[in-house]
Amino acid sequence: MNYMEEKTKAGEYLRLALNYITKHNLPATPVNYAVWYEYVSGKNIKLKKAIDHSLKNAGPINNVKVEGLYQKYVVDGDRIVISNLLTKISLMLKDISNHVSETKEDLAENGKSLNELAVKINDAKNFNEIRCIVDQMLAETKGLLQSGKRLQTRMRISSEDLKQLQQELEKSQQEAQTDALTGLINRRGLEKKLEIERIRAKQNDLPFSIIMVDIDYFKRVNDTFGHLVGDSLLRGIAQILKTHLRQNDIAARYGGEEFLIILPETGIKGATTVAKKIQKTLATKEWKLRKSGETMGKITVSMGISLYRMNEPEASLIKRADDALFIAKNKGRDQIVIQKEQEEF
Ligand code: GH3
Ligand code: MG
Ligand code: MG
Repeated sequence: MNYMEEKTKAGEYLRLALNYITKHNLPATPVNYAVWYEYVSGKNIKLKKAIDHSLKNAGPINNVKVEGLYQKYVVDGDRIVISNLLTKISLMLKDISNHVSETKEDLAENGKSLNELAVKINDAKNFNEIRCIVDQMLAETKGLLQSGKRLQTRMRISSEDLKQLQQELEKSQQEAQTDALTGLINRRGLEKKLEIERIRAKQNDLPFSIIMVDIDYFKRVNDTFGHLVGDSLLRGIAQILKTHLRQNDIAARYGGEEFLIILPETGIKGATTVAKKIQKTLATKEWKLRKSGETMGKITVSMGISLYRMNEPEASLIKRADDALFIAKNKGRDQIVIQKEQEEF
């Protein structure tokens, strides 16, 4: 986002942004200022939509949420991480290439001296001169060995740095695909996993299913107990989902209070069994507020199941699960609904 406003307009945005910061009882930090400045200027449409949606459905905005919005809509997190990594890589490349050139110069110097010695050999007339040449040859060879050793040590350090960089890259990639609140994979990660599953299904001619899970009346939890409790409930549900999955199954946070489970090599029957187990666990669980011990009662989820049809796009598989979920909600919630055209496996 660039800020090229005229002075009067920028002043107006400043005033409006500060109004919002005060209204929401937020500290006037640069992050808060950037978010609200972009909000009032109306240039960052996605950010505006996200804030409006949150204000409408989730009430006042706190500092943590603003930080999240800042990372998601104002700063392009990936771009910063990638640019930092590229800077590191280019510095390392420069370093390696400097070491190689230095060694090359050393070697050229030694080579030149050895050539000169080769000429001297022809003119050697007595033992003394020959000994002198041998001594010089030894010195030059030692020099060569040292240059080689120096390069070896430097390259060892460089390769250790490179290994560290590789790990950093992997970590950044993983973080970009992880949902910070629940620790599950996020939507971006999910897309990758679904792609892998589709390829695997095709190669092995095996089915896979998905379950779309949506917490029932989640807004009420936020409204009654506050957002932090809502957040911790999201973490709790994510944990419960994970405990019902096998090693190769995948649970992702699909959206606000929606999750998506991928069940490789599993048909509708298997997926229904998993869904029922989740439902049963939730039916027996009494949620309590950690601090006061006050009970929140029971939490239920609605679930929609669909089975992958060979070669279909990911969107249509998800849509069938979403449609089934919609029916589950309409049937009164706490229901498991299977995609319309049922296919048994
Ligand atoms: P339904 O049974 O129809 O699913 O009703 P619901 O209240 O669960 O669904 P609705 O879509 O009306 O509201 C979802 C709420 O989830 C609104 C939104 O503010 C809240 N939400 C989304 N993401 C988060 C989050 O990360 N933390 C918290 N605390 N709330 C969130
Ligand atoms: Mg929902
Ligand atoms: Mg819901």
